[in-house]
Amino acid sequence: MIVRDRILAADRAHVWHPYTAADAWELEDPIVVARAQGSWLEDIDGRRYLDGNASWWVASLGHAHPRLARALADQVARLDHVALAGITHEAAALLAEELCALAPPGLRRVFFTDNGSTAVEVAVKIAIQSWRQRGRPEKTRFVALEGAFHGDTVGAASLGGVEVFRRPFAGVLFECFHADLPGEAGYARAFAGIEALVRREAHRIAAVVVEPMLQGAAGMRTYPASFLQHLRALCTESAVLLVADEVFTGYGRTGPMWAVEHAGVAPDLMCVGKGFSQIVPMGATLATEELYDAFRGPRDRALMYGHTFCGNPMGAALAREVLAIYRDEAILAQVASKAPMISRAMGALGALPGVLRTRSLGLTGAVDLAGGEEGYLGDLGWRVYQEAKRRGAYLRPLGSTVYVCPPLTIGEADLELLLSIFGESIQAALEAR
Ligand SMILES: *Cc1c(COP(=O)(O)O)cnc(C)c1O
Repeated sequence: MIVRDRILAADRAHVWHPYTAADAWELEDPIVVARAQGSWLEDIDGRRYLDGNASWWVASLGHAHPRLARALADQVARLDHVALAGITHEAAALLAEELCALAPPGLRRVFFTDNGSTAVEVAVKIAIQSWRQRGRPEKTRFVALEGAFHGDTVGAASLGGVEVFRRPFAGVLFECFHADLPGEAGYARAFAGIEALVRREAHRIAAVVVEPMLQGAAGMRTYPASFLQHLRALCTESAVLLVADEVFTGYGRTGPMWAVEHAGVAPDLMCVGKGFSQIVPMGATLATEELYDAFRGPRDRALMYGHTFCGNPMGAALAREVLAIYRDEAILAQVASKAPMISRAMGALGALPGVLRTRSLGLTGAVDLAGGEEGYLGDLGWRVYQEAKRRGAYLRPLGSTVYVCPPLTIGEADLELLLSIFGESIQAALEAR
């Protein structure tokens, strides 16, 4: 039998982990996962942990859903892989149709990619090339929000507004206007700032890109629906595209299927990933027919973009089954019924000394802790992570912000347990300060 030490030795010798400091990792005593079922991870020694972050915000249907396993097995037996350039297949075609039927109004075209970053990357490229082909080649700049996270390719990272993620690549990322967010500055001031910027620079702005309602990597920060409504109106008036990055917020994470529904607005481009396919890497960018039409004409007007695994049959078949499960298991109704448990728990944690603020939206709740180093590199959140691990939950902090973001299918008893471990772990970490 392969034991924990053997796996860890191979890992320490050869694996380069994402967003992980090398020296700190060597001191870590990480969970070595062997199995997962529902909302639970099980390590190689049989210890169980609640998956408090849905495995980086992906597993909204929990782990090992039997219908997903079956969909994957059926698809691999019939058609394992084929490209999507000059050829097509059932899973991709029917998935595109089903996705458009559920999407905000006006989104009628689906460009498939294979992760969230490239779903954003292609939105950037569609925006630039569509303006060029509509006689506005000078519209090449982007506006994103302070604290934004849109992925890790150079294009997507250029939109990012988290300073520690940008710093190593300073001077190489393309320039992007970063607008203040409502919150600290106050709603009216934040909107006035972005409005002045968009009006002044509209002649060279291709698009405004946002994570609607909830900024994930910024520390699960929320902002009001009216901000999105005003942004939509501003973009329309200024001939600027609005891109909604729903890679995290889509698929019911914030309550409705898409976070833009809180505001009743439809974007011109929308990016999906993460929970979109649950298991196999897969992403998509949805666009209006008007944008698609900008690419009609001679061959040199085509979108010169595409990834080897875009629209891959495995991911597409899974994504179709995910949509069917959302319907059959009324996943959005489940979110609505469990969301108050999270908002109540966050409200109670707000009263703890050492807690700066709390917030929740849908099945996500977050707590900002005082007393540690502020920001993404703070270590107080990691102490909460350690405490939670000891108590049987797997969290992943964002600096001094800790959050829960469980599978949407988590049972009520498991959610209660997760929330109580979360609260106890915060208390223990704060007391040890
Ligand atoms: C995770 C995330 C991405 C990037 O997705 P990957 O699959 O990691 O490339 C983009 N945008 C948002 C909002 C995300 O949360």
